[in-house]
Amino acid sequence: MSSHLLPTYARVDLAFERGEGAWLFTADGERYLDFTSGVAVNALGHAHPRLVNAIEEQARKLWHVSNLYRIPEGERLADRLCALSFADTVFFQNSGAEAIECAIKMARKYQYVSGKPERYHIITFEGAFHGRTLAAIAATGNKKYLEGFGPPMPGFDQVPLGDIETVKKAVGPETAAILIEPIMGEGGVRVVPHTFLRALRKLCDDHGLLLIFDEIQTGIGRTGDLFAYEHSGVTPDIMTLAKALGGGFPIGACLATAEASKGMTAGSHGSTFGGNPLAMAVANATLDVITADGFLDRVRKNSLVLKQRLAELKDRHASVIAEVRGEGLLIGLRMVPPSSEMVDELRNEKMITVAAGDNVVRLLPPLTIGENEIAEAFARIDRACVRLEKAHPRPLKQEAAP
Ligand SMILES: *Cc1c(COP(=O)(O)O)cnc(C)c1O
Repeated sequence: MSSHLLPTYARVDLAFERGEGAWLFTADGERYLDFTSGVAVNALGHAHPRLVNAIEEQARKLWHVSNLYRIPEGERLADRLCALSFADTVFFQNSGAEAIECAIKMARKYQYVSGKPERYHIITFEGAFHGRTLAAIAATGNKKYLEGFGPPMPGFDQVPLGDIETVKKAVGPETAAILIEPIMGEGGVRVVPHTFLRALRKLCDDHGLLLIFDEIQTGIGRTGDLFAYEHSGVTPDIMTLAKALGGGFPIGACLATAEASKGMTAGSHGSTFGGNPLAMAVANATLDVITADGFLDRVRKNSLVLKQRLAELKDRHASVIAEVRGEGLLIGLRMVPPSSEMVDELRNEKMITVAAGDNVVRLLPPLTIGENEIAEAFARIDRACVRLEKAHPRPLKQEAAP
């Protein structure tokens, strides 16, 4: 492995040369079932013909042009995202953390232009993940990510998830907004109860705060709805997207209502690459596929089938799998043995998954999987569980009390 890459990742010694749908191939032709999708990025699997076409066509026409000029592909994508959501306006970037930065700046600026410059604090939740920029790690609040990087950026108040009374107590004269993932992805596929999201909405309305949903992982069909907030019935004021939006091409987006974005006037924010024609063309093609008739119905149907089969495995291997949770194809297996062992065993079965907080293994297949891949996943997880059972035998029952 190269010693010239900054060693911030504990990489597995495995490289893929090409991909096709839900399958990844090494240079030796070994085939892996991809239940990671580049961490919820390759929503349409690998080398989807519609995406390949879109990028080839656009690459021949125009890659990059400054945001000082109109970019029609981006205008079209913004129009579509707004028509499909609560939002009135979109700012495009290149990553999730950048979208979070935009959301934070927008919320602070909103309060500022509303005559409340003292309101710049954002309430966030324990177990959250919002990215790795200095503001995003302060919002994430994880000591591991903050340590050694100087004083955390001020203005983030973290509270435990699920207790509305603690959130109410955290609201003060400096509070500008509440930021939450409707389902915590990195935190371990923790589905936030809809009643809690509704209570946050009310709290925001009562106090003039903005509600920000980080849908970077949950958005663009992952949960079986285009956006997770739809299922909860709670509408945010600002929403961040990234990961699946480009189907594998780097892109981020910050969506907002006209009111929430009222402070973001000409010159208040920018990005050289954000919204470039190449990214816009691929994202438009991704949306074409995901919003086509029946696509999300199939995601929901496949999610049910997969979750039923996983529930079977949980019953069969109760000493290995503690819980199956999640929405759509954002699924978490909370493990009894360390989740990293399950990820390793599954990789031995030539199936790749990704660990998350709370001792969870995340299953993030492409949204395009079918029966064949579900059956393959079932067989591989079953075999991995059998090996973990052998590695962690249950303590023998004691014959008599000592
Ligand atoms: C991945 C992720 C981010 C960060 O996205 P990057 O593109 O890595 O900057 C932020 N929030 C959530 C919920 C994520 O899943």
